[in-house]
Amino acid sequence: MCQLQTVKHTVPADKTLASMSPRELKGMLPEELEHVAASIDLEPYRGRQIAQWIYGYGVRSFDAMTNLSKAHRRMLSERATILSLDEAEVVTDPSGQATKYLFELSDGRRVESVLMAEGDRRTLCVSSQVGCPLDCTFCATGKMGLIRNLTAGEIVDQVVVARRHLGEVGEDLTNVVLMGMGEPLLNLPEVSRAIRIMNLDYGPAISRRRITLSTAGHVPGIEELTRNGPHVMLAVSLNATTDAFRNKIMPINRRWSISVLLEAVKGYQRAFGRYVTFEYVLLAGQNDSVEHARALVDLIRDIPCKVNVIPWNPIDGEAFGRPSEQRIEAFVETIAAAQMTAIVRYSKGTDITAGCGQLYQASPGVERR
Ligand code: SAH
Repeated sequence: MCQLQTVKHTVPADKTLASMSPRELKGMLPEELEHVAASIDLEPYRGRQIAQWIYGYGVRSFDAMTNLSKAHRRMLSERATILSLDEAEVVTDPSGQATKYLFELSDGRRVESVLMAEGDRRTLCVSSQVGCPLDCTFCATGKMGLIRNLTAGEIVDQVVVARRHLGEVGEDLTNVVLMGMGEPLLNLPEVSRAIRIMNLDYGPAISRRRITLSTAGHVPGIEELTRNGPHVMLAVSLNATTDAFRNKIMPINRRWSISVLLEAVKGYQRAFGRYVTFEYVLLAGQNDSVEHARALVDLIRDIPCKVNVIPWNPIDGEAFGRPSEQRIEAFVETIAAAQMTAIVRYSKGTDITAGCGQLYQASPGVERR
C-alpha cells in the first residue's frame, strides 16, 4: 500500500524542477540556441548549426551533430534535450493522398496532423492545441474542450516529422496550414515562435506566404497579428451570414460579432496586402441556400478574398448533414457570378477521419462532451 507523505517545500516546487531539469531545445529560436552554445563555450554560430540539425535535418540525438566535437555533444546531452513527438499511429487513406499522424505527447495527451498531397504541393495541417475551447457545434475537436496549449517545439516537430517522412521518398513539404486541432490565436506566442522556426532557410524553409493560419474569429488575436505579425496568410472560418445563426453554431460570435470580425479582417488585409480566405462549412438546410450565398457575397465583397466552401464532414453524435452536389454547386456558382473566387474543398482523408473538423482524440481522463 502506498502511504501519502507530506513534503515541506522551501522553494516552490516548479522552480526547483525547472532549475534541475535539462533544457528543451526544440522550440528555441536561433538566437536562443546561440546562448546555449555560448554556455558551453562554443562560438555563437554553433547555435545556428544546432538549429540546422534539429529543425533542418530533424536529428533526434546530439550524437548525430557531427560538426560538433564529441566533448561538446556530451556536454549538450547532459544539459539539454531534443523533444521528439512519438508517432503513435500513422494511417494513409486509400487514395494515398492523405496521411494522418497521431502523436503522443510526453504527458500522454494526443494530437493529430494531416499531410496532404495535391499535384506538386505537400501540405501539412498542423495542430496548435490539445483540444479546443471554442466549442463550435459542428466540429469534433470542440467536443474535447481545451486540454492544453502545445509548445512551439511540439508544433514545429509536427513539421519536422512530416519532412522526415517526405524526405524518405525524395519529396519535401511545401505548405503548412494551422487548421488542425485548436485555435491558433489562443496560443499565439507559441504559434508565432513556431512560425519563425518554420521560416528558417536552414530549417523547414516554409515562407510566410506558404503558411496559412486559420481562426474561428478571435478578434484581439487578429489585431495582434496585424500589429506585430507574423504576417502569414490568414483564413477565417465564417460559416454563417447572420449573427443569430453564427451565435448558435460558433459561440465565439457572441463575443465578437460578424461585423466586428470583418473590420479586424479588413485591418489585417490592408496591413498585409494579400488576399484573405474565408472558410464556409456547408451545413445542409441551414446555411447552404443560394440566398445564403448572396448574403455571404454582400458581407465580404469589399475585402480582397477567396472563399473555401467545405461540405460538412460527419462527426459522431452531431445531427448536421452534408448538402447535395447540386446545392453545393449552386452555392459556389452564386459566389462566382459575383466575380469572386470560390473553391469547393472536398476534405482529403475523410475515410480515415482526417477531414476538416474530424480531428478528435480521447485523452486519459477526458470525456467527450
Ligand atoms: N480554430 C481554427 C482552426 C481550425 S480550422 C478555425 O476555426 O479556423 C478547421 C476548419 O474546419 C474550420 O474552418 C472549421 O470551420 C472547419 N470544420 C470544423 N468542423 C468541420 C466539419 N465537421 N466538416 C467540415 N469542416 C469543418
